Amino acid sequence: MRIGAHVRAGKGLVPALDHGAEIGADVVQIFTQSPRMWKPSQYGPEVLAAYRDAQRDHPGVSSTFCHATYLINLATPDPELADKSRACLQANLATAEGIGAEGLVLHIGSHRGSGFETALPGVADGLLEALDSVEVVDAPCPILLENAAGAGDTVGRSFEELAQVIDAAGGDERLGVCLDTQHLWASGVPFTTAEEADELMSLVAATVGLDRLLCLHLNDSKVPFGANKDRHENIGDGTIGADGLAALLGHPDLQGLPAVLEVPGDGDGPRAEDVAAARCAWQQGLLLRG
Ligand SMILES: [Zn+2]
Ligand SMILES: [Zn+2]
Repeated sequence: MRIGAHVRAGKGLVPALDHGAEIGADVVQIFTQSPRMWKPSQYGPEVLAAYRDAQRDHPGVSSTFCHATYLINLATPDPELADKSRACLQANLATAEGIGAEGLVLHIGSHRGSGFETALPGVADGLLEALDSVEVVDAPCPILLENAAGAGDTVGRSFEELAQVIDAAGGDERLGVCLDTQHLWASGVPFTTAEEADELMSLVAATVGLDRLLCLHLNDSKVPFGANKDRHENIGDGTIGADGLAALLGHPDLQGLPAVLEVPGDGDGPRAEDVAAARCAWQQGLLLRG
């Protein structure tokens, strides 16, 4: 398992790699533009190429994930918001592709009461349009659909829903899934014993399929099990606990995956001690599995 961290990108994005190396992360995740603003960051081809070079110069940090802008809502019934969302996703994916990212993690959005089935064709179309819009450098950067914490009318609250979205997009190979441990916990799926983790992984295999699971977001939870709220906590300080996370992290099907911390640290994101705590929970999970 590769332990990663969401870090601030900084000017030209390259500082992300230095910061990741400083805190001992095996992979980093960044926003390619301000996550709560529509305005895309314009990166020239030389900036993108420089990032690829810098990635090679940071052998400790094996790859980069991008997290899409939070404002994007592919499930919205509002046509203006839908257009803005599609354009923003395309800009996000172009940068992710340009820097050679391993995946672009996306929250699908909320249908705002219009209904999952009604929203589904628009979601699928928005995803395919984005995937087809980018110029591929080496291999296509996949869009990784993240499971939601289950608030309001969010799409992607279960692996069944994520599988339906992927099906609606024709099972496109460039679509994957990112499993966020805090969102899963908040959406009421238990995984804190070996038996529960086994059951969860059987569910993942039976719905989206294990080959689609390309990333974990490793977060403890500020809110109780089933609270349907997206609130991350440092590993071991939340309601899941280090032991609970260990039960999942030790699962044999997850061992090749990156597990990216999106924890608050002391207010400024993951620190070296958070990366160490994550590695410790993973090692504990391996022992548990014997
Ligand atoms: Zn996440
Ligand atoms: Zn979250």
